[in-house]
Amino acid sequence: MDAIDQVVMNSRLHYLGMAARTVQPLLRLAVLACMDARVDVAGLLGLRPGDAHVIRNAGGRATTDAMHALAVSQAILGTREVMVLHHTECAMGRFTQPELAGRISAATGHPFTGELGCFADPIQAVLEDVERLRAYSGLVHRDKIRGFMYDLEANTVSEIARH
Ligand SMILES: [Zn+2]
Repeated sequence: MDAIDQVVMNSRLHYLGMAARTVQPLLRLAVLACMDARVDVAGLLGLRPGDAHVIRNAGGRATTDAMHALAVSQAILGTREVMVLHHTECAMGRFTQPELAGRISAATGHPFTGELGCFADPIQAVLEDVERLRAYSGLVHRDKIRGFMYDLEANTVSEIARH
């Protein structure tokens, strides 16, 4: 059975609570997180359906696409706070852009030139994304944009602040 068939079966057991009937996130929160399968954003942060927007990509980076989603989240759907959530052992911090682009090119047989959001310093990457979002004029609310690191080993979430 394909994984997609498996998760469609899982969905039949899923009960959508009352909170999920409001389109505007109840906590007025958007989380920008890495797509890493080990990071259970809802479970980790105690989010229930209807609570928050969760935008995910490789690395949890403030890419153009992620920023556009956050612009919609705030201006159209009423969120006010942005939580940037990166994590330890992130694949985007273990490889360089040329390495990953080379592997994708080799695997597909087609040249790959897309920007991948690799980083050398995990703490700096969080700070960069927070700064980028704070400078983005497409956001209505830029006073509550905060960055965090989820330590998979220690199972802790720590705020990253610029010193
Ligand atoms: Zn990651």
